[in-house]
Amino acid sequence: MAIDHHGLEMSRLAKTAIVADWPVALDHVNVCVSPEAVGENCGRCEKCLRTMLALIALGKLNASAAFPRRDFRAADLTNLEIGNAYQASCYRDLLLPLRDRGRSDLAAVLERKLAPPTRLSRLVRTARTTLRPVKSVFKAAISR
Ligand SMILES: [Zn+2]
Repeated sequence: MAIDHHGLEMSRLAKTAIVADWPVALDHVNVCVSPEAVGENCGRCEKCLRTMLALIALGKLNASAAFPRRDFRAADLTNLEIGNAYQASCYRDLLLPLRDRGRSDLAAVLERKLAPPTRLSRLVRTARTTLRPVKSVFKAAISR
């Protein structure tokens, strides 16, 4: 018996496009991995953001009731962290479709996040992490 492994080589964007063309699925798609969002999409976790970006690239987010928002701005991606190579490849697949859709603002943010860290950006991150406890002590001291 031949087993046809449909979809194994299909990109996540192509799979999202299938869901996006099916109105019932578009309104009920559930991708959220946030422990706080039970049965619905939080719209803030990495997987929600990735799916929402794919839907923006497909021009379908504004037609979906499955997410708490119908659109977002580049600033909403500030806290997005691309955690692994699979996620990076998904975001890379979105760059051209986002630009074609007139969302170069979002593509530019993704491109910055996809770029390998420079010595300066690593230094800034280390400095932020190291100084965070100092900052909270300072804040506590001046608020007295
Ligand atoms: Zn979520």
